[in-house]
Amino acid sequence: MELNKQSDWVARSLRSVWHPCTQMQHHETVPLIPVSRGKGAWLYDHEGRRYLDAISSWWVNLFGHANPRINAALKDQLDTLEHAMLAGFTHEPVIELSEKLSALTGHVLGHSFYASDGASAVEIALKMSFHSWRNNGHADKQEFVCLKGSYHGETIGALAVTDVALFKDAYGPLLRASQTVMSPDWRLAPEDGSADERAQAQARRAAADVERLFIERGDKIAAIIIEPLVQCATGMAMHDPLYLQLVRALCDQHQVHLILDEIAVGCGRTGTFFACEQAGVWPDFLCLSKGISGGYLPLSLVMTRDEIYQAFYSSDVTRGFLHSHSYTGNPLACRAALATLQIFEEDDVLNTNRVKAERLTKALQPLAQHEQVRNFRQRGMIWAFDAIDAPKDFSRRFFATATEHELLMRPIGSTVYMMPPYILSDEEIDGLAANTLAVFNKVMAG
Ligand SMILES: *Cc1c(COP(=O)(O)O)cnc(C)c1O
Repeated sequence: MELNKQSDWVARSLRSVWHPCTQMQHHETVPLIPVSRGKGAWLYDHEGRRYLDAISSWWVNLFGHANPRINAALKDQLDTLEHAMLAGFTHEPVIELSEKLSALTGHVLGHSFYASDGASAVEIALKMSFHSWRNNGHADKQEFVCLKGSYHGETIGALAVTDVALFKDAYGPLLRASQTVMSPDWRLAPEDGSADERAQAQARRAAADVERLFIERGDKIAAIIIEPLVQCATGMAMHDPLYLQLVRALCDQHQVHLILDEIAVGCGRTGTFFACEQAGVWPDFLCLSKGISGGYLPLSLVMTRDEIYQAFYSSDVTRGFLHSHSYTGNPLACRAALATLQIFEEDDVLNTNRVKAERLTKALQPLAQHEQVRNFRQRGMIWAFDAIDAPKDFSRRFFATATEHELLMRPIGSTVYMMPPYILSDEEIDGLAANTLAVFNKVMAG
């Protein structure tokens, strides 16, 4: 293996691998980086260069690459049980994980249903919502509501409740229509007032839009799906927790399910284990994936309330939820998730993250105050800002320039963001801030 040069790996990959979310022709100019190994927050290529994984490898890696504690748990699990089907059988890792997650919601969300990727979790929540209404005699509740700019995955069903033109437009003819409501993104608020006042004003305006729709056709709507606190894929659009409280109340009033997609924002990313804790509300369905396995293995799940579970509980087979995936509840993935949850407990992660977040926010002040930057924002372990008058191909140029400064970063349009693993040292935090500033200045200078 070591005989292969970096350039050989690049050529072989481009000949045989179709890379995700990529116009492959761009790799004629944008570097493709073959990773040979990872350790902590760093990825290493075949020529010994390293890259700080400032976006947790697409938001999945919480405690670094090759984490010793997760590795040990997986090695033990590997010699015990790698996989067993979950219909008719069950096993310790999936039981323990379901119990632990339920406890984290104070047992409000008592059952977890498993899949492997985020889009599947979204599809499951949509199907469960519709089916539970049907089982309860409301078969005409068939519509779903999503937010402007929302992202919930890219399979046909998940794409129907996604509102990102770049991902959606080409497939429009294949998709079931959904209702789109105003975004609570505080950047859209009227200019006057303090930051909090503006965010809350926008939360109220956006909730009023939901109310208008629920009054008009609530009897046709099964569920509204929301990515709470930070709509990540649309460009780290942040909103006030008030929005979630207002929508929760409207859902109760108009008999509409609330689906919270915490695939990106869950697992401590926004400062609490679940983002919705900051609003003091629980949804009817909560989707988790990405960070739950520590970034090790594909795992997703949908947690739900007992009322929903009971709507399917019957002697009649067809009233059951007959959905399955081959790797549902995979023991290795569940064991990685258990090891991840254990690190949260052992290291008091939510509190130590608070200290790290403060340091990075402080270190990023030169960018926050930069004359070519607006809307510097932070929640928990997410930072973002928008470049003013960004040059053409800003995102790709930023990515390429970042690699020259030992950074893995991939802006969304003209929004630069950081979603680092929770293990950065003080030195790594300061380096991340300084290098990001250097990269930004270089790219903006053209
Ligand atoms: C990533 C993501 C998904 C889709 O998850 P996949 O595993 O990529 O299918 C859905 N919703 C949100 C909010 C996400 O960030």
